[in-house]
Parts: sequence; structure tokens; C-alpha cells
Amino acid sequence: MFDRILTGLTIMDGLGSEPFQGDIGIRDGHIAAVGSLGDAECKDRLDAQGKVVMPGIIDIHTHYDLCLGWDGLGAHCAKQGVTTVIGGNCGIGPEDVGAHLDAAEKLKLGLRYGILASHGPIRSRVVPRVEGRAASKDETLLIYREVERALEQGALGLSWGPYHSNSLADEAELLSVTKAAKNAGKPFVVHRRCEGKDGLEATREAFRLAEQTGVRVHISHLKIAGRKHWQKFEELMTLMESGARRLDLGFDVYPYEGSLTYLAAMIPSIYKSDGRLLERLADPAERAAIIHGIHGWFADRQGPDDILVFARHIEERSGSGAQNLASLAEEMGVQDPAECAAQIIERDPEGNGGWAAYRYMMNESHVQELCGRSDAIIASDAVPEVDGMAEDTHPRAYGTFARVLSQASKKSLPEFSQAVKKMTSSAANRYGLQKLGRIEKGCQADLVILDLNELQDCARYEEPSVYPKGIDSVFLGGEFVFKDGQGLTTIQGQVLRG
Ligand SMILES: [Zn+2]
Repeated sequence: MFDRILTGLTIMDGLGSEPFQGDIGIRDGHIAAVGSLGDAECKDRLDAQGKVVMPGIIDIHTHYDLCLGWDGLGAHCAKQGVTTVIGGNCGIGPEDVGAHLDAAEKLKLGLRYGILASHGPIRSRVVPRVEGRAASKDETLLIYREVERALEQGALGLSWGPYHSNSLADEAELLSVTKAAKNAGKPFVVHRRCEGKDGLEATREAFRLAEQTGVRVHISHLKIAGRKHWQKFEELMTLMESGARRLDLGFDVYPYEGSLTYLAAMIPSIYKSDGRLLERLADPAERAAIIHGIHGWFADRQGPDDILVFARHIEERSGSGAQNLASLAEEMGVQDPAECAAQIIERDPEGNGGWAAYRYMMNESHVQELCGRSDAIIASDAVPEVDGMAEDTHPRAYGTFARVLSQASKKSLPEFSQAVKKMTSSAANRYGLQKLGRIEKGCQADLVILDLNELQDCARYEEPSVYPKGIDSVFLGGEFVFKDGQGLTTIQGQVLRG
């Protein structure tokens, strides 16, 4: 007797196999049978004739740890077919992994939820961020122990990036924390120090650390950023090929040519790693240096016309939603867009200036090439979402998976099957989640039923918070988490501890 049988489906098993027709029998939250189940007994039968079923999507690159208490989180993910997420990427995350995961256990997440140990906040437990300095030898050992502890408490890997105080670490410290990840058998997940001018060197840096320690290494949102630097892309691909020959290497990518990050990301690390950016902006000489730094960023990457800001806290704004920095500067009566950016940052209560979308940062054909690679993992890099602020985001937080799937489905079913793999079993394998990301007997019954005729991402930069079409229903452990266009919020979910 099955708890539920789904019948009449085209099955994409998540492993990239040729799609096949069949039924799925679910028992005790798991897939109990796959094949032709005829009239087998069950408590509930769902006839999904003409639809496609795939494993629940595993989004390995998110920042949902920053909005864990948002009760719409599970539904937000379910509406996109996402059943498992990993937070704590890019070196930003909770200071105390154990406490964070304990808090997550108490929530009805309606999701499977895992976290990476984030280097910056963890190192700040040893070297106070405000001191803005490298760690001593003894402190490096203490940071090693803190990272080791976070990994023991269940973090699935270690992340590092240019945010928070990460960039204060010297090579000895980085080598030491990378060793902690290696010893725990968990990956080192790197948002490279630079993704533009020094993007190749920053990739080599990650490889060097992996070579010296033997750690599994994963590059977050692989790209070359900035029109000026796009010509480095081919060399980056060659570098990745040679890295893959000698390292256990992976990468993720989102299918958009624009990025999203804090507006303060344009400011060089030396002015902000210690968390004293606002203080510096209040000092005329330091302010001038920061403005100069922002101009340098414009020249290196892209100008204010291609930077979309949300800046809700600026009352001079006439509209809502995204607006480019150049036009906002005009509205605010500020001549220099770099000065305008500085004002947006200092008037933001959190001192980051809020989220900004950087259009045309990547070359669209590079994005397509990366998404098309067989070793790609598709992930959203979605940033927090809170009620009422939905428009302050990037379409990737709503459309990533449907975008890749719908583009692939228009090519061919085998192509579609490969796209499914890149967001299911390939993602699961990266973190050793063997019972997830595949439709096989014994695996968790996390499933997504799709209508391929309808499947379409609908999120755009101008209106990012629009869910995709064509997601019919979603199951977590055999229970509906999305049905008839509604996310169901009563499902417990699971905290993943590595
Ligand atoms: Zn990220």
C-alpha cells in the first residue's frame, strides 16, 4: 500500500537519463517505487497525464539565512519548485552555526535547509571586526578551532567572500581555515576576491588553497564581470578546465547578465572590512578618497546608468521599484553619481545602501555558455526577501530555475533532462546529499510536477518579484508544499546537518 501514487508522468530522474513514462509510488515520505504501478493500492492517487515530474530543486547558493524568520520563505521556494536550500554563502552568514541551526529546527520551514560556515562572522568571534586587522598566529589557531566547531555543528561547508571581514584574512589564515574544511571532508566555497580585472588571479588563489590542502573547492557564481574584462573569459574557461583535471572542483551560476549586491560593494574593502565605513564617510578627507574609489569602480566596471538602485529610504525619490543611479542623482539634486551613492549608503540605517542590481555586468553569451556546461550547477544566489520589500530584488530570486528549464525545454527533452540534473543530482552530489535530487527508489519524495507547455520565468528587472508559470505542484517528503497556485505553510521541513 502506497501513501500516494503519481501517475501518467514523463519522468526526469535528475541524473540526466533519457526521460521515460511511468508512475511514482510514495510511502513514508520516500519514493517506494518507480515504473508502471497499474492499479496498485494507495491512499491517494494523482493523475498527472501529460505532465513532467522532476526531483525537487536544490538551491545550493542562497542567502536565506538572513531572513530565516520570514514565514513566507517556504512558500517562496515552493512556488519555484525549490525544496532544499543552502544559506551562508559568500562569507556572510551567522556567527554561531549551532544556535542558528537550533533556531531553524524550531520553525516550520516547509523546506530542507542547510547552512555553510561563513568565514567572516566566525573570525570576528576571535578578532573583533572593528580592529580591522590580520590575525596573529595564536588567533589563527583559534579561528581554525571556531571554523572546526561550526563544521562539527552541522555546517555543510565553509564559505568565503569579499563581504564582512573576510578580506582581512591573510594567506596563513585562509590556508588554516581551508584545512579545517578539508579535515571535516567538506567543501570550501569561494566568492572570489575579484571577479573582474583580477578575476583570473582570484581564481588561481582559490585553486592554490585547494592544491595545498586537498580541499574540495567550489567557485560561486562563476563569471567575468565588467565589459572591459570580458576578453578574459576564454582564459577563465581554460583555467577551470586545468583546475578540474587536478582538483575536486565545482561551480554555480545564475542565468542573468546582471548581478545584485549591496550598493556599498563599489567601495574598496579597505574602507569597510572593519565595519567603520560610516565613520569614514563622515571625515571629509576619507570621504573624498571613498568617492574617488567609487569613480574607479565606475571606470573599471560600469557607469551609473547601468546601476539600478532601490533606495527606499531616500525620500526625494519620486517612484518606487528600481531606478538607475544617474537619474536618482538628478532627482536628489546631486551632480556626481558617486557622491549620490555615498549619500544613499550613509542614509541607509544599515550602512550598505540597500540592494542594487548591476545590469550588463556579464556578457550574455558567457552566461549562456556557463549554464550550458555539463559541470554547471544552477543556483539562484537569492538574497533576503521580507514582506513588503519584494520589489527590492533581482529576478534571479524568482526566475532562475524556470528560466533555465524553459529555455532547455524549447530545445529538446534530452537537453531539458540535462538542465534538470544541474539543479538536482549535481547540486546534491556537491554536498553529499545522496537521498536528494533524484527520482529513485529509496530517495526522499521531493518532487515537482511541471506543465512544459506553460513553463516560463516571469521575473524581470523592472518587476522582479513574479513567480514562474508552469509549476503545477510540489511535494516535500511526499506532502504537498505547493498546490493550486498556493504555497502550503504547515509542513515542518528538515534542517540538514553535515
Ligand atoms: Zn551570494
